[in-house]
Amino acid sequence: MPGSVLGVLGGGQLGRMFTMAARRMGYRVAVFAPEESSPAGQIAFRQVHAPYDDLEAVARFAQQVSVVTFEFENVLTATAEEAARHAPVRPAGSLLHTTQNRLREKRALTKLGIPVAQHVAIEKAEDLDSAGQTIPGPAILKTAAWGYDGKGQCRVERPEDLPSAWQSVKQSPCVLEATVPFEREISVVGVRGLKGEVVLYDPFENDHANHILDVTTWPAKIGDLSRQRAHEVARAILEGLDVVGVLCVEMFLLSDGEILVNELAPRPHNSGHLTIEASASSQFEQQVRSVSGLPLGSPERRTGGAAMANLLGDLWTDHEPNWAAALEVPGVSLHLYGKEEPRPGRKMGHLTALAGDPTAAAALVRNAREALTRIR
Ligand code: AMP
Repeated sequence: MPGSVLGVLGGGQLGRMFTMAARRMGYRVAVFAPEESSPAGQIAFRQVHAPYDDLEAVARFAQQVSVVTFEFENVLTATAEEAARHAPVRPAGSLLHTTQNRLREKRALTKLGIPVAQHVAIEKAEDLDSAGQTIPGPAILKTAAWGYDGKGQCRVERPEDLPSAWQSVKQSPCVLEATVPFEREISVVGVRGLKGEVVLYDPFENDHANHILDVTTWPAKIGDLSRQRAHEVARAILEGLDVVGVLCVEMFLLSDGEILVNELAPRPHNSGHLTIEASASSQFEQQVRSVSGLPLGSPERRTGGAAMANLLGDLWTDHEPNWAAALEVPGVSLHLYGKEEPRPGRKMGHLTALAGDPTAAAALVRNAREALTRIR
């Protein structure tokens, strides 16, 4: 209940926005992160700096909180297991284990009858030939573990390119995936409570640049049947994997209306950031509610349309972004994550815009982001 301490493994922006939601509701948040200064640690009630494999530190941390959740899905399985000896871990470490590895994740989805892109596993050099025959290209080679924001990915146009592509990812275990001719990329953020109740946000529509999410628009411009299908798929996954907490399902929508699941994130997701301003309960508030065993909040939209644009470190290349110019755009809110070093490709913050419809919101948020590069 409010007043108690919620523990979060990971100190990034997702943990920071979780902490903000939790604090507003009267909880205190303890953050466990290897970094000295982390976006979440800066605003937490307590922070512990230790590596994730320091299991004694993990045990002490878990003993001092009411429940443990995470914002970084590559937390080691052993870390989640150690935490679970001392406090409930929600979602469970077994979900982390599944989603940390693309092959395990695809197998779990297939077992649930959820369609995914055609793919084959490449675990050793001998697998390359048959993989190239099964998926002659164009294809994407993805490392099975530790990939995010397009890292550990390589396009393969022809089977002949496969050996060098595999070299480029250091011969790690991989999935070779057929390129999907999708019409749109959408995502559904879902929440499942302790009693199995499920709440789903309307699908978000996502535009990527260089494999990194660039702009999200809400609601996605898709028909009712696609919306229903996207919700059906997300619900089946939340229930099938027995999730307690927030889970995002990234999907490809094909021109014939079929949906393929690309990836799962067992936590709030970048595409759901706009729920902070645009819905009755944000995805972060839902994380607080679900892991604390409280009733789930409403995912209702509060506006006709909303959009989010990511702010990457590249924006700082020439000068400090022109915050005043962006904030002059009506209906725009600024979120910065407190990261000190703006490296190219690093997510430093985001802008959200609210408007009467999604197209207008997307135009506003893009205008506001462009204004950041205006010389003062
Ligand atoms: P991922 O890290 O798997 O989420 O991939 C990042 C982005 O790369 C996706 O959001 C897509 O824009 C693109 N992508 C990944 N896999 C595929 C695929 N099989 N076909 C087409 N585009 C893909």
